[in-house]
Amino acid sequence: MTSLDPRAPLVLDTRELGRRPGSQREVELSVPAPAELGIEVLRVPEGSPVELDLRLEAVMEGVLLTGTATAALEGECVRCLEPIEDDILARLQELYVYPEQHDRAAEHDDRDLDDETSRLDDDLIDLEPLLRDAVVLALPFQPLCREDCPGLCTECGARLADDSDHAHEAPIDPRWASLDQLTHDTTHDQD
Ligand SMILES: [Zn+2]
Ligand SMILES: [Zn+2]
Repeated sequence: MTSLDPRAPLVLDTRELGRRPGSQREVELSVPAPAELGIEVLRVPEGSPVELDLRLEAVMEGVLLTGTATAALEGECVRCLEPIEDDILARLQELYVYPEQHDRAAEHDDRDLDDETSRLDDDLIDLEPLLRDAVVLALPFQPLCREDCPGLCTECGARLADDSDHAHEAPIDPRWASLDQLTHDTTHDQD
């Protein structure tokens, strides 16, 4: 594991908090969004501000982080491909375990700590994995420009929301076409 850069925008220093359980600190931060924050059809534009409103609390095992991240979103409607602008409020909650706590638990195998457990690294917290997970969780699975977006016309690709009367002449049903043919033949025979 490479050590974290304390100057990186998404790295949080917890030294001021101290380790006395119950000690708390509020942190407000505005950080530039890292690349590819979100999902393909809806994401936080790279470099746009992500407002973090965080509360750090020292607990026995480490530092409990709770809070919110708010940011602007841009993407496309999955039905009609119109651009979407929205914003997001993602809830953050994670326990960052002290490294020695983590090692002790691993030795005694008495705790449910695995490699997925977030750890403090030199009293630093890497917020990026938490932010990524929280943003993806808070996004709609299929973003729509509006809930009842009618999508695109399957015949010509026109955006149906712009043109609610959109219609094409119904193609002739092949069954009726052959019946039509039959009628003509009958008429012919009677001649
Ligand atoms: Zn749409
Ligand atoms: Zn059409």
